[in-house]
Amino acid sequence: MRKLWSLLLALAMLATASAAMADGMTPGTYTAEATGNNGPVKVEVTVNEDSIVSVEVVEHAETAGICDTPIATIPGAIVEAQSVAVDTISGATNTSKAIIGAVTDALTQAGADIAAFSQATQKEFVLSEDVQDLSADVIIVGAGGAGLAAATTVQQAGGSCIVLEKMAMIGGNTARSGSTLNAADPERQQKLELTADIQEVYDAIEAEPVSEAHAALQQKVKEQLEAYVASGETYIFDSPELHALNTFDAGDRVADLDLIQTMCSGALAARTWLSELGCEWTEQVYLTIGGLWPRSMNALEGPSGIINALKKNVPDEAIMLNTKATELIVEEGRVTGVRAYDVVSGQQYALYGNVILATGGYGANAALVAQLHSIPELMTSNAASSTGDGMLMAQEIGAALTGMDKIQIHPHGNPQTGALQSHFAGSVTNSIYVNKEGHRFTEETGRRDTISEDTLKQTDHVMFSIYDARTASDSSDSAVELGNAYKADTIEELAELAGIDAQGLADEIARYNELVEAGKDTDFGKKAVELKIEEAPFYCVPLSPTIHHTMGGLKIDTDTHVYNEAGEVIDGLYAAGEVTGGIHGGNRIGGNAITDIIVYGRIAGENALADK
Ligand code: ADP
Repeated sequence: MRKLWSLLLALAMLATASAAMADGMTPGTYTAEATGNNGPVKVEVTVNEDSIVSVEVVEHAETAGICDTPIATIPGAIVEAQSVAVDTISGATNTSKAIIGAVTDALTQAGADIAAFSQATQKEFVLSEDVQDLSADVIIVGAGGAGLAAATTVQQAGGSCIVLEKMAMIGGNTARSGSTLNAADPERQQKLELTADIQEVYDAIEAEPVSEAHAALQQKVKEQLEAYVASGETYIFDSPELHALNTFDAGDRVADLDLIQTMCSGALAARTWLSELGCEWTEQVYLTIGGLWPRSMNALEGPSGIINALKKNVPDEAIMLNTKATELIVEEGRVTGVRAYDVVSGQQYALYGNVILATGGYGANAALVAQLHSIPELMTSNAASSTGDGMLMAQEIGAALTGMDKIQIHPHGNPQTGALQSHFAGSVTNSIYVNKEGHRFTEETGRRDTISEDTLKQTDHVMFSIYDARTASDSSDSAVELGNAYKADTIEELAELAGIDAQGLADEIARYNELVEAGKDTDFGKKAVELKIEEAPFYCVPLSPTIHHTMGGLKIDTDTHVYNEAGEVIDGLYAAGEVTGGIHGGNRIGGNAITDIIVYGRIAGENALADK
């Protein structure tokens, strides 16, 4: 009986297909392109008279790690369904739409009846009636950097874990980061001359302390600085304590100093651990946007280098993609698991084990952002997955939140999409930020929130990063090709291309070069000036503020226990990464988020496993 059904079904499908393709196509291979996130996505589509034979993505500039799943799955889905009405991949919607759009174009060229190839293939979504029970030592919600760091730690310690990920792919917002990690790293820093102003360190240690712990930290850095000065060395001065002091100061001294010190003292070990897992790093440390001290390094392969390293020890079977956690299970005052469902099949699950929430921030939840913050309506650099789920789930069971009025607006957004473009925005030491009138208006090495606030006061809420050939990288030229940056042999030409006042820009660059010559930025107090802007070709990157990081979140301690509103630990519940609050205070230092998620992801994995 079952065989007969299958035969009838197959015949029915064939009948529909041939009816749909009655007009016939001109057999051959067609190429077409459509715009994705970073530029054109080009496909090659081969058809015979009545069907799509193959689809291949042959060229694209989409972000590695984010585009992998749609590129691997959508072409096959289109061939299998003989339809362009296939599902987009959550978290990679623009890449998905570009592939579908380009295939539609190629089919049109082949003379296809597009309506016939657009029959919906989606089933109606229904939640299952049965709830499947699963268990592991640790249930981790979220497969971004923090969740995967926790999962790797559990696996390495011989425990079992299940990682729930609501999107069709792992990586979360971490996959969209600049992959910048901060750590005091003597091996790297002692190879470089200090060009940042040491006065910054004196200012930090001489400021009026706000607590005994703050005073003790200042004292420790003071002793380190005295020893450095006495040694006569001129390499980059740094230590985990100075990193902690910078983090506390930059966050307006409202963050939890214990959390900060745990993060900073674990920073180098976190980076080394990632290196052991196969993630390679830039040799030179540098001063990143809003980083405030030269202690940043980047994964050589960008964020996918970090995600791939973190995924290496986590078996595929341990990660449930397309599975959204909805509710924490509480039994006799202890969190014993989490409820979830498969967003494609509708299967419901109850997953039992100690729970780590690693669901990221809420920067892409526009309603929540508007409810919590009185800021202008802005785009976001965040993945669509950053909707605050874990924070809200924990709040439902009485978890305390902290720092909820703090949000970071990053100055390096693409003015059209909000996507982060720090990787081709130049270097803060060797670029200048100007407005449409060609004038500098902010300190390029300053805090991200200050630069963003200053930009919002400029014409069209836009600033332009200007740099010369010596600061350019391969990604600068790719950005030019994709229309996200301009390049010209003269400043006048550059200004004209970008719509900046040419005379204003020429005067500003002449002034800036005088300041570099004098070795000090007396106009805006830039922390370090190194290179003049003088070698053609010149580059210009338009940038607008974009919502980037939510500093508030679940209240945790240094063991990543989540606290309730009565100030007690919620047994069985842990949290790590952007879902937590209290670490970055009022403003997060650039490069500290990766440090945070790796350090605390590891701690959460260790403790949730030990607490069986
Ligand atoms: P972090 O930097 O703190 O690791 P990320 O944004 O990189 O944060 O990762 C968070 C991950 O959590 C994302 O991949 C996101 O899709 C996932 N996530 C968020 N909410 C849920 C949920 N309700 N169920 C399952 N996964 C979730």
